[in-house]
Amino acid sequence: MGYINVYTGPMKCGKSQKIFNELKRQLIAGKNIKVFKPLLDNRAGDAVISTRAGNSINAINIQDISELKNYEADSYFIDEFQFLKGDVHTIDEMATAGKKFYIAGLNLTSEKKIFGKMGDLMCIADNIEMMTSICEVCKCEEAVFTYYKGRKDTDIMVGDAVYVPVCRECYNKLMHSNFSKAKKLVSRKHEPSEVSSLGKILVNDFSYQCHF
Ligand SMILES: [Zn+2]
Repeated sequence: MGYINVYTGPMKCGKSQKIFNELKRQLIAGKNIKVFKPLLDNRAGDAVISTRAGNSINAINIQDISELKNYEADSYFIDEFQFLKGDVHTIDEMATAGKKFYIAGLNLTSEKKIFGKMGDLMCIADNIEMMTSICEVCKCEEAVFTYYKGRKDTDIMVGDAVYVPVCRECYNKLMHSNFSKAKKLVSRKHEPSEVSSLGKILVNDFSYQCHF
């Protein structure tokens, strides 16, 4: 029997790195693996999954979940699952037939709406890892939401310079203020040097990506 593992949370919580680490292990073990990403996500150029820690691997571009059936593998790795269309029961059927799934995706849009088919996917999953980021406003380690710093017309998040992970408290403050004002309002609970090693990567990566 196969299984479905889901890694989810806000922006910059290390979801892609998580599936990357597992696929590296399975490659070393000589397993037949295949890696997928939605056609929409062109953050790292076509058909490549990249992580904030600097790893990358070639991936197959798909748009609909049903396309997975066209590819034979022991394990299926999917990044940015929230952008895929279709019915998650395809994945359930494939897992029942012995296939293993490692899937990363954003659970919520910046308006806290369930992102694409992520809710459906979590309901049929064997394991769900809910991951957190460092809050970009107060630097606590419990950022569970993604906040959008500008004007927004659709749910689509492509490129993440204007999306930031924030904690529940800061999200609420940001919704009643603008970002720079809120940053002054909320006192820093931790300096970046005090956060965990994973946190340091995320903080450094953010300063590289966003410059503010
Ligand atoms: Zn915060």
